[in-house]
Amino acid sequence: MVKETEKKSKNKKLEEKLFYKKESMWLDLEDKEFKSVMDFGEKYKEFMAKSKTERLCIKNIQEILEKEGFKNIEDVKSLKKGDRVFKNFKGKNIIASVIGNNPEVFRLVGSHVDSPRLDLKPGPLYQNAEVALFQSHYYGGIKKFHWVNTPLEMHGVAFTKKGEYLEIHIGDKDDDPRFIIPDLLPHLAKEQMKKEAGKIIEGEDLNIICGHIPVKDKEIKDRVKLNVMKYLNEKYSLIEEDFICAEIEFVPAQKPVDIGFDRGLVGAYGQDDRVCAFASLMAIIEIKNPAHTATVFFTDKEETGSYGDTGADSFALMNFTDKYRNLASLKQSPWEILEKSKSISADVTGAMDPTFSSVNDPQNVSYLGKGVSIEKYGGGGGKYSTNDAHAEYMQYMRNLADRNSIPWQTGEMGKIDIGGGGTIAMLLSRYGMDCVDAGPSLLGMHSICEVTSKADIYASYLLYRAFLKE
Ligand code: MN
Ligand code: MN
Repeated sequence: MVKETEKKSKNKKLEEKLFYKKESMWLDLEDKEFKSVMDFGEKYKEFMAKSKTERLCIKNIQEILEKEGFKNIEDVKSLKKGDRVFKNFKGKNIIASVIGNNPEVFRLVGSHVDSPRLDLKPGPLYQNAEVALFQSHYYGGIKKFHWVNTPLEMHGVAFTKKGEYLEIHIGDKDDDPRFIIPDLLPHLAKEQMKKEAGKIIEGEDLNIICGHIPVKDKEIKDRVKLNVMKYLNEKYSLIEEDFICAEIEFVPAQKPVDIGFDRGLVGAYGQDDRVCAFASLMAIIEIKNPAHTATVFFTDKEETGSYGDTGADSFALMNFTDKYRNLASLKQSPWEILEKSKSISADVTGAMDPTFSSVNDPQNVSYLGKGVSIEKYGGGGGKYSTNDAHAEYMQYMRNLADRNSIPWQTGEMGKIDIGGGGTIAMLLSRYGMDCVDAGPSLLGMHSICEVTSKADIYASYLLYRAFLKE
């Protein structure tokens, strides 16, 4: 604070008035707000610990929605102002709404609940060098070398040949076994270390050790493999063929943690984009009588392009809106409802990296702790694969954030032509509704432990909440 006795020069005042400047939001947090930020961080970590895959995340979201009075749209006969409903599609995406005073328009926040991971191949199990291994197929954009030498946990579903549905979760409890892909020892890695980074570990090298003790029978060739199948059969009635009718995912076996002496940061796997899913979920459960119908969309398959029946490129939103308009007895078509709606593509962006700063334009990148990042465009290579939000909508968002005293900044995904990254913004915007990306910035995106600022997570929640109330 400048003391009153200190006189500012005319140009200093002019500079303050005219220049765009954003400071860390931590600087302005009152004690009570600071506590809210830190408490929110704790709840977030709890949520993340239970949401390691898209299925688990959707299950977790539905449980919270139901606890907060949201009803399954399949069980509802009609919809009126103030009603709370959700639609769970195939256990992999959810859309939830609180019906507004103007039900013919949505305020929509869309995030994605899938994160990069290792999926099992349909024929995964084999034995080599006295261990049993699973062949995996990576999902989403990863640096493959991240996934070696780190304990992994296993989550998934499978069907027995008789049609019994199983859920398998191994590795998330303290005394559970884990799984691992060992890297080559440095002593013998002279040739490996000459390779370019993308080839140090290749897709076909992502083989996960899952067993070691053989069945005691020298007649059998694949004794360790047989022992693994024996275990899976005794415990889950599975046979090898059942892997074909399964979805088994491997994710880092780690709990979300605080990072740094001051605990201002969160380190966790899958924060892209479950951080926005959590923040928008916490926002909608607080919404009581919104001006427009407050809607949140938790989608799947964003990390592989949003294609497929549960991704944002599907008609999931259109189908929901059609059902909604019928139940709410609206005369508007779903197309008209969506065209007149406003949306936020709630997703993360890259923060200024303290070590690899050369990839960022310091004047346009987001910084950890400076608030929710409202990003006009994502994509890359001359604004491909994005919805470049209109000036009119940027003004709407600025006004919304400022009116509600929400710390915000702008952002850009790296220097021009250096790379980039898409979100669901272009898919929401194709209905004609306004859309802009907004969410926290993070470090180590798509790594096995991403880093966010608790301040930015809280600011994102505040922005989504203010938006959904409008
Ligand atoms: Mn994302
Ligand atoms: Mn991503």
